[in-house]
Amino acid sequence: MKSNRRSFIKYSAFALSGSLIGSEACHPSTNPGKKKPLTGKLKLSFEPYELQLKHAFTLASSSRTTTPVILTKLEFDGYTGYGEASMPPYLGESHDTAWNFLSKVDLSGFSDPFLIEDILEYIDSIAPGNPAAKASVDIALHDLIGNILEIPLHKLWGLNPEHTPNTSFTIAIDTPEVVRQKVEEASGFRILKVKLGGGNDREMINTVREITDVPLCVDVNQGWTDKKSALDLIHWLKEKGIVFVEQPMPKEKVDEITWLTDNSPLPIIADEAVQRLKDMTDLKGIYSGVNIKLMKCTGLREAWKMINFARAYGMTVMLGCMTETSCGVSAAAQLSPMVDFADLDGNLLISNDVFEGVKVINGKLMLPDRPGIGVVKTEAILD
Ligand code: MG
Repeated sequence: MKSNRRSFIKYSAFALSGSLIGSEACHPSTNPGKKKPLTGKLKLSFEPYELQLKHAFTLASSSRTTTPVILTKLEFDGYTGYGEASMPPYLGESHDTAWNFLSKVDLSGFSDPFLIEDILEYIDSIAPGNPAAKASVDIALHDLIGNILEIPLHKLWGLNPEHTPNTSFTIAIDTPEVVRQKVEEASGFRILKVKLGGGNDREMINTVREITDVPLCVDVNQGWTDKKSALDLIHWLKEKGIVFVEQPMPKEKVDEITWLTDNSPLPIIADEAVQRLKDMTDLKGIYSGVNIKLMKCTGLREAWKMINFARAYGMTVMLGCMTETSCGVSAAAQLSPMVDFADLDGNLLISNDVFEGVKVINGKLMLPDRPGIGVVKTEAILD
């Protein structure tokens, strides 16, 4: 697709909704005393884009230099909301799958963009899977609502922007020379996430520790296979200042992971083992925490529910991301005052961002004082 498809990319998947005269929806700012009904039509457009990574991104099982995304725009009554689907290839979605999914979206049955629950139930019912494509609509819808109300989402949700966590910055598996360079580049961060499982775990940690003594978390991406050697390594990692271990073994090895969590001196966080809200009940007693990502769970609405569910289980909660533009990352950051750990560095790993949004200042996420997800588009895309 790509280049030849760009010529007809200004595709409007749906248009149309009935008049909203008489609806609860209103323009709060232009007519604060009286509700002025919204009368616009809802329109979705979307456009494929290819993220260029600053460094090759190497995990326990794969390596790549680009990530396909689809950027979305929802328009309603002169207001706009932006969204994004980021689709690392190993997760199964692609430009083609997201294009096909979004082409089926028809919101003509909805006349009020504030009916988020109804709209997203419909989106989820169009086809199974496609979590990133679904998230791109969820994010755009939340951004649109925030823009109509002229309020940042974290404020709408009652979250204190001062309570955002430090975000970790990811150091991927590489040679000691490259790892040293990346760690030096990450000197502004107060926590680093080191990818392990590539067969050089102790070398990776020792190399990082030559440069910095900030807290580290590690992500094994299912790369360890033996529970006893995994536990030995976790004890060693604890001495090296590691604060938690993410997805140490293949998600199918439930008995081994349960044993590891029971015996580990560090929290064991589920990532690949959990996608959506319905998976949360499977984690109890097996993991001590969960890594929630908008691209896995279909967006902000479900992420909010998962965070609350995890809290009820007494689990550690982490908010993560894929390599994404500042659109997807800024959306997730709106939820970040609710979580223990944030790994929201996906926009910092790319060289061709097309949005400006959340910033990292002295390692801490700083939410923009702008409505919705808080982004401004900086390139001619989705016009
Ligand atoms: Mg992970």
